[in-house]
Amino acid sequence: MSAPTTVRRALTGWGRTSPGVAEVAGIRSPEDVVALLAAGVPGRGVLPRGLGRSYGDAAQSSGGLVLDMTGCDRVLSVDTEQAVVRVEAGVDLDRLTRVLLPLGLWLPVVPGTRQVTVGGAIAADVHGKNHHVAGSFGAHVLELDLVTVDGKTHTLGPDGLDAALFWATVGGMGLTGVVVRATLACLRTETSYAVVVTERCRDLDHLLERLEEGEDPALPYSVAWFDAMARGRRLGRAVLTRGRLATRDDLPRRLARDPVRLPPTGGGPAFPIVPAGLVTRGTGMAFNELWYRKAPARPTTDVQSIGAFFQPLDGVRDWNRAYGPRGFCQYQCVVPFAEVDAFRRAVSLIAASGHPACLNVLKRMGPTGRGLLSFPAPGWTLAVDVPVRPGLERLFGQLDDLVLAAGGRVYLAKDARLPGGHLEEMYPRLGEFRAVRAAVDPDGILVSDLSRRLLG
Ligand SMILES: Cc1cc2nc3c(=O)[nH]c(=O)nc-3n(C[C@H](O)[C@H](O)[C@H](O)COP(=O)(O)OP(=O)(O)OC[C@H]3O[C@@H](n4cnc5c(N)ncnc54)[C@H](O)[C@@H]3O)c2cc1C
Repeated sequence: MSAPTTVRRALTGWGRTSPGVAEVAGIRSPEDVVALLAAGVPGRGVLPRGLGRSYGDAAQSSGGLVLDMTGCDRVLSVDTEQAVVRVEAGVDLDRLTRVLLPLGLWLPVVPGTRQVTVGGAIAADVHGKNHHVAGSFGAHVLELDLVTVDGKTHTLGPDGLDAALFWATVGGMGLTGVVVRATLACLRTETSYAVVVTERCRDLDHLLERLEEGEDPALPYSVAWFDAMARGRRLGRAVLTRGRLATRDDLPRRLARDPVRLPPTGGGPAFPIVPAGLVTRGTGMAFNELWYRKAPARPTTDVQSIGAFFQPLDGVRDWNRAYGPRGFCQYQCVVPFAEVDAFRRAVSLIAASGHPACLNVLKRMGPTGRGLLSFPAPGWTLAVDVPVRPGLERLFGQLDDLVLAAGGRVYLAKDARLPGGHLEEMYPRLGEFRAVRAAVDPDGILVSDLSRRLLG
């Protein structure tokens, strides 16, 4: 077998900020990873990369070797009786979904895009709209194969002898080794549709109240889009959607003919690079007004495809270009429920800053998982996408201070700029993570631009 070819490339995250140039190796199989790492990595280290959907610098390593895992993407087996699938880690959730749905299976946790690899989903321990009931992605990983920097393959489970390495890898942002295979528990579903209840909330308090009192076990998925630019009486006005997977009986006849249909992804028009960016204060406010008004004034129930409900942006190719050549940042934080006033202040700060923000998400998170660096924690989470422009760093700095004082944290998969000193306070299990990492990679060969910035 020939060694994977490498190409010198500039890489960025989804936000298209701070590019880093690296040698990128196209990985075709787990054996490629073993061979590369066993041969030793010269220079500035090595890092696995999936589809580059983390927003900041987590999946790039300037001057180093980056392993592009997307060619290591076979679905190895599906056990329909046990509802279990075994895959190579570079397979993306879109393709996996298309394999699973016709077999009556789906994934228990999916993020807001299916354009992520299984390896990337494990490394960020991604969460979905059902975090409060299902936990995050790692809670459904039954086993994974991890290649460490010495070229050894470790088969790890959540409760085995190597459980510490498993839980350092889940949420570990690629810094413990390269996940090459994973076995995932699946969910059963009769259809590729969701029954969705949509309602408008007039302001932030109304939204938080509805999220608190409206938790309905029969509707395990919930998320709100909120207007991050509205102020005063309309601060935090929102459109709340809650849903469940549809059964065949829920479907109207025209959909029931092919209950697991999933239209092709990304076939829509691509965004050109927009010189000055489309997202300005004016367009942002107009979009938010339209989005709020478009939602029904009274709660409405309808049937939506899983794509429309779970990953609405996947229909527009390269939508991240709409922010112009300077790119954009996402700020996602979680603040404990007891600190709801700090959360309110964070929403007010964003609205008062005048920065344009249209894609804004707010939801409740459930219990903390077992991943040493996993983001989710019980509390309120918000995520806002903001174009890079003067004053943004100041706003994010103010938000950091609020979040820190409230005992909250920022999500590393979305981060491009958090100062290093904050990590210790935000992630109380960082010391345990460092110890596991030091044991498997004493020379610090696995590095990313994010780890250089935050872990030193
Ligand atoms: C539109 C959009 C919506 C999103 N919605 C959500 C959401 O709802 N919830 C959520 O939690 N996240 C969400 N995300 C973030 C996204 O799910 C994560 O950033 C995810 O990690 C991206 O996967 P990827 O394959 O693109 O990985 P990359 O971005 O390429 O890499 C992410 C990290 O994973 C590591 N990694 C990648 N492959 C491997 C591997 N094989 N072994 C070990 N480490 C590896 C990398 O080193 C890096 O640190 C969203 C992102 C976008 C663009």
